[in-house]
Amino acid sequence: MQEVSKIEDADYYILNSCSVTHKSDNEAFYLLRAAKNKNKDVKTIITGCIAQIEKERLLNNDFIDYVIGNDEKLRLFDYISNDSNFVAKDVMTLDKFTEIELFDTSKTRASLKIQDGCDNRCTYCIIWKARGKSRSASLEFIIKQINDFANSGFKEVILTGIHIGQWGKDIGKTLLDLVKAIESDTKIQRYRLGSLNPTEINDELLNFLQKSNKFCPHFHLSLQSANDKTLKSMNRFYKTDFYLSQIDKINEMFENPFLGSDIIAGFAGETDEDFEITRQNLEKSGLTQIHTFPYSVRKGTIGESLPDQNSDKIKEQRATVIKEISKRKYKSFIERNIGKTLEVLIEKHRDKHSNNLKGITRNYLTVQIISGREDLYNSLQTAKITKYEKGIIYAEFI
Ligand code: SF4
Repeated sequence: MQEVSKIEDADYYILNSCSVTHKSDNEAFYLLRAAKNKNKDVKTIITGCIAQIEKERLLNNDFIDYVIGNDEKLRLFDYISNDSNFVAKDVMTLDKFTEIELFDTSKTRASLKIQDGCDNRCTYCIIWKARGKSRSASLEFIIKQINDFANSGFKEVILTGIHIGQWGKDIGKTLLDLVKAIESDTKIQRYRLGSLNPTEINDELLNFLQKSNKFCPHFHLSLQSANDKTLKSMNRFYKTDFYLSQIDKINEMFENPFLGSDIIAGFAGETDEDFEITRQNLEKSGLTQIHTFPYSVRKGTIGESLPDQNSDKIKEQRATVIKEISKRKYKSFIERNIGKTLEVLIEKHRDKHSNNLKGITRNYLTVQIISGREDLYNSLQTAKITKYEKGIIYAEFI
């Protein structure tokens, strides 16, 4: 197979779908239909979470030729050479992580999937149904893949998964075992952890990360609501005070860490008073950035049958309030970094609009540097953050 840039030249069109909201479902269908309209001979393949959840129903659409499940997508080309146009095993029967090396050398930073599935049952979420039980990649597989990334020139790896805090549960290990092994047995200079549940980031792990030379001061602790009543109805097993204390602890232990989170606005049963508590807690939190989206009712979840669903208008209004808080917090985070000298990983590609060099700091600031130098792509440099102007953070080499 060879990648082509125009749909008119393609034999196959592969869409790796996300099912986290209705919007992502609709976008997937729109893209598949548009592909078929532009090239009636192209074979369209839908894989990913929608393919897993909706299965046979998808084949009733004349713009979809193949439906390939989440686990099977790793061997996608084996399946499309078969006659069957549908394959999606029941993911709940899977109890081992499928270890297949994945490489995308076009990017500056490598993503390494260390885990799949989730053992939690949040009432708004459909993902565990599309992904199955939590399954961990083995330590040996992870270290080998990191070493392969190092040999390909990568300087930074992001550890990802559906619920990486559950890494190791099925193989008798913990996330701390993994970060320790990565720190001592690999050569890559920088690592980031994907999203963690606040209960999974214990003192031992934090103490280790604080002393680490490789793990970046970048955390994403999922929250979803900053109101205990709503958290309970979401089936999230922590309280807001505990969450906020975790954030304070990280802010005390690390220098200028990036602290991101997610909030679902307008979950079923969330009243104006409940939302006001969330708003106040977010305001006082030490978070850097809050990703938010209006609650999207997913078919097949407990959330679908909960009473007192909020209107789209209310959900949008609440999301707008949170976006505003996030904007302010992020701006103040940037301002706290102005004047600081930080390590920047220069990206392989320049900024599309300004043509400046672009890079990312350890604490997750994307900066631009005015420079014509091409020898610096994919290198670690030291730069001073100088200003924030029209949405761009500028830095200068030291
Ligand atoms: S932790 Fe909750 S939201 Fe996250 S994947 Fe598991 S069930 Fe879904």
